[in-house]
Amino acid sequence: MGLKDVVKKAAFVDILRGMSVTGTYFVVDKVTVEYPKEKLQTYPRFRGIHALITDPDTQDAKCVACMLCPTICPSQCIHVVGEETPDGRSHAKEFDLDLARCIFCGLCEEVCPVAAIVMTRFYEGSTYDKRDFLLDKKALMANQVYAHKEVFVEKPEATGAAKEEGR
Ligand code: SF4
Ligand code: SF4
Repeated sequence: MGLKDVVKKAAFVDILRGMSVTGTYFVVDKVTVEYPKEKLQTYPRFRGIHALITDPDTQDAKCVACMLCPTICPSQCIHVVGEETPDGRSHAKEFDLDLARCIFCGLCEEVCPVAAIVMTRFYEGSTYDKRDFLLDKKALMANQVYAHKEVFVEKPEATGAAKEEGR
């Protein structure tokens, strides 16, 4: 140990330096979030637990049972049974998703041609019963209250030629 180190130790330099850091953080704003009493706002592209969005015209899920999401899902955790409704629409009679196998990759949301399945800002899905991870169509539709707000953008007003043609 050199003379310089002896002087540093005798003057408690390291201790004073540590206490100055402690003192600084004692007066600055706290960054710790006391979860679950406080929660952070998720980012707009956060991929949380899924939802099926309702079509306001039919009050059914917007899903047209095209089978793209169960096909692309790398975990094979989506199960869809399609059928034709009495008014001639193709819809999902059954739509099940096993969250316990999902890797939250977002491919199902990306591939959906009608934006029926979305990943929401909801992430608090912990449970003591793994059966709670099996989401059926009803549960997925109930989850749409957690969808990012841009999903609910109003339909644009029909204008010009579209209006004349009654579209
Ligand atoms: S997020 Fe990925 S793994 Fe999960 S259901 Fe969608 S496609 Fe499958
Ligand atoms: S990709 Fe969309 S429309 Fe096709 S089955 Fe999945 S949720 Fe339904």
